[in-house]
Amino acid sequence: MQKNNVNKDYDDSAFVWVNIYDAANAMEANIIKGLLMNAGIQCDLQGEILQGALGEIPFDQGAVAVRVYAIKERQAREILVNYQQVQQSTPDWVCPKCRELNGSTFEFCWSCRTVKNDESE
Ligand SMILES: [Zn+2]
Repeated sequence: MQKNNVNKDYDDSAFVWVNIYDAANAMEANIIKGLLMNAGIQCDLQGEILQGALGEIPFDQGAVAVRVYAIKERQAREILVNYQQVQQSTPDWVCPKCRELNGSTFEFCWSCRTVKNDESE
């Protein structure tokens, strides 16, 4: 018997999720997610849901894996390299309005959307 593989002619491997980054916590994972989304790269966070369900785990102890489709891996890694360079040269900042800690690459607070350089007060 012969299997019908007509629908398998395209390259499946391009649409396999690839783990490109292990974020220390959900906040960092969301920063990376934002960067990738800005670049038009679809991404998937692994662990965030689990973390929410467990609730009692301190926010900074739940590692979150960031995944992208294999076809976007190279592009995503370039963004990550850039992100890590910026991380080293720019410190994280605390939102003056809601006191949330924001990643250095954030232009505005992820929580309340206050602009980073708003130092009028
Ligand atoms: Zn804020």
